[in-house]
Amino acid sequence: MKTPIALLALALSAGFALAHGGVELGPNGGRILEFSKNETLHGEVILAADKFQVALLDKDQKPTALPTATLTATSGTGAKPTKLAVEKTPTGFAFPAVAAGQTVVLQFRDSATGKPVTARFKFDPSNCESCNHPEWLCQCAAAEAPKKAK
Ligand SMILES: [Zn+2]
Repeated sequence: MKTPIALLALALSAGFALAHGGVELGPNGGRILEFSKNETLHGEVILAADKFQVALLDKDQKPTALPTATLTATSGTGAKPTKLAVEKTPTGFAFPAVAAGQTVVLQFRDSATGKPVTARFKFDPSNCESCNHPEWLCQCAAAEAPKKAK
């Protein structure tokens, strides 16, 4: 089975080359994060009313409820991480927005005894000239034929 692996490697490297933001976007235009090791659970992050809202999505990116799930969020530079107050919402979780340029690190557990899955994203609200979206929600990677940024 040499060919499929070679093709996969090619696809991956091509994907990285094309990826401007390299961002996967969800059904609501939010940032998709992996909340599982096998692509069965995702979080879609949107910014609304000065809060990051994290909606839980199943493998088909359909909303899913997981009452036992927990999430912790920290932000800031490595030396000075700041714990963010996470609250439960009907669709998942919410926590306060961070300053531009900060990286948010999330630890998700599907239950109190579940193994933590770490996901992170950098909040870069500056505008991408190619797709006219904030960089942290850059759509260039998803576009059929992405325009070259000048
Ligand atoms: Zn873009």
